[in-house]
Parts: sequence; structure tokens; C-alpha cells
Amino acid sequence: MGDRNAEGANSMSDSSDAPWYADGVKFRCTQCGNCCTGSPGAVWVTDEEIERIAEVLGKPAGEVRLFHTRPLRMKLSLREFANGDCTFFDAKTRRCTVYDARPAQCRTWPMWKSNLADRSAWEETARGCPGIGQGDFVPLEQIEQQLAESPL
Ligand code: SF4
Ligand code: SF4
Repeated sequence: MGDRNAEGANSMSDSSDAPWYADGVKFRCTQCGNCCTGSPGAVWVTDEEIERIAEVLGKPAGEVRLFHTRPLRMKLSLREFANGDCTFFDAKTRRCTVYDARPAQCRTWPMWKSNLADRSAWEETARGCPGIGQGDFVPLEQIEQQLAESPL
């Protein structure tokens, strides 16, 4: 175990059927906040997720929809402040204020198909996510579960 590199490469990864991350990838969030801030982008949110966020905030779902989402490409995305921060991001604590109800896109980061497409995509993702390469290996089963839940 000790000589595996951060991407989890070893013999299993050489099997033609196995994905390159078959032995897991190292990831533990450092809570830097990078993925909730910075350049604007889409964070897809469903009606069910809006309901759940509203429950956690103790606010009507319509209010959450009005103040925290925006229509984008026929879907809904979370709204951002002018500086690109998600409106649910607390800049002081650098925490998500709706953490328990955050959308699937947030819950599954960085285990997205695009990030795990190949080793170089993962390495590129690691440039903006210092949690990649930290902590224990996330096992394949968990990666696949998150891939299945992720909208991306
Ligand atoms: S960028 Fe990575 S390490 Fe930073 S908060 Fe997001 S998931 Fe955690
Ligand atoms: S909902 Fe929370 S986890 Fe998702 S982008 Fe906003 S602050 Fe980050």
C-alpha cells in the first residue's frame, strides 16, 4: 500500500477493463473553498434539492429559488455573487451554509466523469483542488457511487 502513488496506480490499473482509478484515488477535502468560489460556473440544482436546501434554511422553497438560483441552459444553476462565490458560501468561515443539503454536483466533487476521464484530467483537477492526493484512498466502489450520483 505504501508505495502507491497519489493516483492509485498499480497492477489493477493495467487491466484492460479496469479504469485507471481502479485502486482508488487519494482525496480528503482541505476545506480551502476553491470549488465554491472563483470563476463563475454552473452548479446544477434540481427542484428536490431546492426543497431540501429550503428545509435546512427554514425558508420557503420559492425564496431559495428566487435568491439563490438562476436559469441556465433550460435548467437551474446556483447563483453566484459578482466575485464568483456561491451565494451559499460563507467567506468568513469558508464553509458551505447548506452543507447537509448541498446539491449532488457539490457532494460528488471531485469524483466527476470529466475529472476522472483519465489520469491527466485528474492531475489537472488537482491543480485547483488541494484535497486531491491527501488522506486515505477513496475506494473504487465509492468513486463509482459518486460518479453515478454526479450530474457531470
Ligand atoms: S477545492 Fe477541493 S480541497 Fe478545496 S474545498 Fe473544494 S473539495 Fe475541498
Ligand atoms: S452549495 Fe455549498 S458546496 Fe455547493 S458551491 Fe455552494 S457553497 Fe459550495
